[in-house]
Amino acid sequence: MSRIVYVNGEFLPEEEARVSVFDRGFLFADAVYEVSAVLRGRLVDNAAHMARLHRSLAELEIPVPTSDEEIVAVQQALIERNDLDEGVVYLQVTRGVADRDFVFPEGIQSGLVMFTQAEALIDKALAERGISVATTPDLRWKRRDIKTVALLAASMAKTAAKRAGADDAWFVEDGYVTEGSSNNAFIVTADGILVTRQLGNEILHGITRASILRLCQETAIPFQERRFTVAEAYAAREAFITSASTFALAVVRIDGHVIGGGVPGPVSRRLRTLYIEAALRDSAEH
Ligand code: PMP
Repeated sequence: MSRIVYVNGEFLPEEEARVSVFDRGFLFADAVYEVSAVLRGRLVDNAAHMARLHRSLAELEIPVPTSDEEIVAVQQALIERNDLDEGVVYLQVTRGVADRDFVFPEGIQSGLVMFTQAEALIDKALAERGISVATTPDLRWKRRDIKTVALLAASMAKTAAKRAGADDAWFVEDGYVTEGSSNNAFIVTADGILVTRQLGNEILHGITRASILRLCQETAIPFQERRFTVAEAYAAREAFITSASTFALAVVRIDGHVIGGGVPGPVSRRLRTLYIEAALRDSAEH
């Protein structure tokens, strides 16, 4: 069945949706994006995604395409029109359409594209079994805190990981794990401390990462925001990833090293449950 997607002010069947070949998102990856989860037809953590969208736009001096109210109204309209119960809403803002030139063009209208993807997020076989990751050099640019659509290095890394029999890739720089191909990386040390890399230009400031750390605070799970080595990850008691579409998801194998006996550990399972409970509770209140 065809989806209804949103392109620059219009709701269209996906086959009819078009963008220009001169769109700078297409020519220069001059565009930023956000992915918000939907549970029971309601957006999860969406205010934080909107705040990060504004930060990405500001860092690149891309004009805001329209008001937040309008963007959220379109997200909700797409959920309704596509009868989306569980899945994600993808939104992309591009600098706009102009003849090809490296210099940012002035005075053009930024573009806005959105679509939904239906997907089971809560009941996932992968969450029961845990995933395997393969480490790989971090070949990305130095402003990974800006959520641009320049995802080729991540796409190459995940493809190579899959071909090597793993589920995902973890990027490594100077011996330290930065993050996953499309998620933030966490370990739980032998003494039970949860560790995830500190914020900076080297990683995306994950919205789910922030929610998980807030849950740790509320439930007195000790954590440190610092970088950790690959060797520390191999020796970890538990490991997991976070993102809008995976929530907290256990990692049970890193480069073939079995983590936590090869099954999802108690800390990641607890955080996954707490995150889903909070998401369902918050969305019910809105
Ligand atoms: N890091 C990277 C590189 C990502 O692409 C993503 C998800 N797009 C994340 C982390 C997780 O961010 P969030 O929790 O906001 O989805």
